[in-house]
Amino acid sequence: MSTIELFTRARHAQELGIRGAETLALDWPVVIARKNAIVKSWSSGKNATPDKLGVPVLRGHARFTSLHEISVDGKTYSAEKFIIATGSEPARPEIPGVEYGITSDELIHLNEQPARMVVVGGGFIGLEFGFALAWAGTKVTILQSGPEIAPALDPEIRAILLESAAKAGIAVKTHAKVMRIRSDKSVETEIAGRAEKFSADQVLLATGRPSNVAPLNPGAAKIELDQSAVKVNEYLQSVSAPHIYAVGDSAGKRQQSPVAWYEGPIAAHNAIKGNERKVDFAVFPTAIFTIPAVGQVGLTEAEALKRGINAKASKLPYEYNPAAGVRNETDGMVKVVYEEGTERILGVQVIGAHAEDTIQIAAMAMNGGLKKSQVGTMHYVFPTFGGAIFDTMAS
Ligand SMILES: Cc1cc2nc3c(=O)[nH]c(=O)nc-3n(C[C@H](O)[C@H](O)[C@H](O)COP(=O)(O)OP(=O)(O)OC[C@H]3O[C@@H](n4cnc5c(N)ncnc54)[C@H](O)[C@@H]3O)c2cc1C
Repeated sequence: MSTIELFTRARHAQELGIRGAETLALDWPVVIARKNAIVKSWSSGKNATPDKLGVPVLRGHARFTSLHEISVDGKTYSAEKFIIATGSEPARPEIPGVEYGITSDELIHLNEQPARMVVVGGGFIGLEFGFALAWAGTKVTILQSGPEIAPALDPEIRAILLESAAKAGIAVKTHAKVMRIRSDKSVETEIAGRAEKFSADQVLLATGRPSNVAPLNPGAAKIELDQSAVKVNEYLQSVSAPHIYAVGDSAGKRQQSPVAWYEGPIAAHNAIKGNERKVDFAVFPTAIFTIPAVGQVGLTEAEALKRGINAKASKLPYEYNPAAGVRNETDGMVKVVYEEGTERILGVQVIGAHAEDTIQIAAMAMNGGLKKSQVGTMHYVFPTFGGAIFDTMAS
């Protein structure tokens, strides 16, 4: 995504007086090869860590055979305690012809950029890949079954995201029911009662990622599931099998890498020393790596009002941010949701360049219990994208 974001910025450099930008092109096999090299170097570093710590690693497929036993490729091992960290797997929805579609696992290995791509699903994975491929030059159509893409987003943020999708050339179809994927990869749909067909070279299935616990044979260890995930308490302990803990994608709905990194040590501590540490997601910043990106922390205005909080919102379009202006990246907005009277910051949403970084200023402020006006009167570096967070708190 980062490569395509740089490519997109560079392509628009013409407007800044930089010549030659219009002839830039992506070398797709090189982009994929570089991505593969980065992933390899990150995972080889991780693979070396257990060895350094003297922790034996069994490489194979684990499966519970009883409460305290697992088998790994035919050999049985027993333990007092277990931590499940088996992640999630992309869903393959029950659509006739689903075998002609690919998931994000396969898409990231494609050596050829598809000329046309239909994305089934308008959640964060569908949007991230849809934007990346569209800015890279693929003709993208996103099919979303419900009335809105990214349903949890603030509607004003979504409106800007949709404007950006249109600029990227993405066709977004809502209320779209996928009826069939054909072997030529065309997708037959029903939209508002009318049949519509979309031609494609690749069909990306982006309809969610269920937790990958079922292949572990959880029943043998009496592990209760909540949909596909291990049902855990605030100590990450299975509610039905107290000697088992679960973390990351296998334990819940916050499917983000930092969740797994945060929960792993907590589960290990609780499994060894007893339940002493609870998880706390009161301030949990996230980003959607669309182009432009979306950063979020805390409650949206609608969520706060639904909870009966006297919530108000301050907003600042990116066009009032001088850093965005000088860089010609004015598509975006900062929205700060706060409690009237107390000035407690309830949540912040940012869409625009560097949103994935600037949202962390808001998360720090919320973690520190700062009031909106305290942030709004702080010194900051000018001109910066982060300055927009401070300016929005000042208004
Ligand atoms: C396309 C895509 C983009 C994403 N982008 C972001 C992002 O930008 N930022 C972000 O924070 N998160 C992102 N995520 C989410 C992030 O990758 C996951 O939340 C994170 O990897 C979860 O970590 P985990 O340790 O729970 O599981 P995983 O990283 O999935 O690890 C699970 C491991 O368990 C192994 N395993 C599974 N079953 C068994 C078994 N029975 N026996 C033995 N081993 C087993 C698997 O092989 C795997 O190695 C993205 C995910 C996807 C798919």
